[in-house]
Amino acid sequence: MADKITVGHVHMSGCTGCLVSLADNYEGLFTILDNYADLVYCLTLADVREIPKMDVALVEGSVCINDPHSVEDIKKTRENATIVVALGGCAAYGNITRFSRGGQWNQVGHESFVPIGDLIDVDVYLPCCPPSPESIRNVCVMAYLLLKGNADQKALAGEYLKPLMALAKRGSDANRSSDACGCDLMYDVINQGLCMGCGTCAASCPVKAITMEYGKPNIDRDMCIKCGSCYTACPRSFFSMDLTSKFESILGAIDAAMSV
Ligand code: SF4
Ligand code: SF4
Repeated sequence: MADKITVGHVHMSGCTGCLVSLADNYEGLFTILDNYADLVYCLTLADVREIPKMDVALVEGSVCINDPHSVEDIKKTRENATIVVALGGCAAYGNITRFSRGGQWNQVGHESFVPIGDLIDVDVYLPCCPPSPESIRNVCVMAYLLLKGNADQKALAGEYLKPLMALAKRGSDANRSSDACGCDLMYDVINQGLCMGCGTCAASCPVKAITMEYGKPNIDRDMCIKCGSCYTACPRSFFSMDLTSKFESILGAIDAAMSV
């Protein structure tokens, strides 16, 4: 087993649900921390105040642009991390924080929030509200294999992370061609005749903005909070054929790594 990687959890403006989801790996989290990753920064779990150098930064939450400290922290995270992961809908797409207009009693002036890709380059998007414990675990293991594995493991990890990297590239596109929200599901999948009516998008929506009508999803855009869950959960939007065809070996690699 090669050296561990160093991982940090950087908390911007979010509800901490992504960190709870990470912790919901239970003994899987201990396997990761025992064998693959040292947690070098996490305001909730580690007594470290300054953002250190690290291999992987898991960034949760969007950035309040009225708060210079937050803007400075996200820039420092980019400087200090080899791989930056936008963990969850808020970091990746802004999610519910996009609708903030300020006025909270303890932070009255905090009224504008943007996804981290608006301020820094992001390597990997892991959307959803929150991402599942398994998906966070798998990204951690794949980041480990990408940085420390042998040539075959690096190639496999690259395949696994490729669509998440593609989401990051698309999400940071300056012309905002995509937010991976309910609208994109409509434009990219439903309107293209690609929808097979499986209902995964409706099941994944945390605010029940999608109902299945006549076997196809109907999206209430007024209810959509732009979390990205539906778009990334849809098997017709997200998984590249490359990834699908190698899925068995990828799962095998993760299982083998997790059983160490
Ligand atoms: Fe998220 Fe639902 Fe909007 Fe899709 S429709 S982006 S799952 S809130
Ligand atoms: Fe259609 Fe994708 Fe929703 Fe399935 S998850 S119903 S394929 S849009």
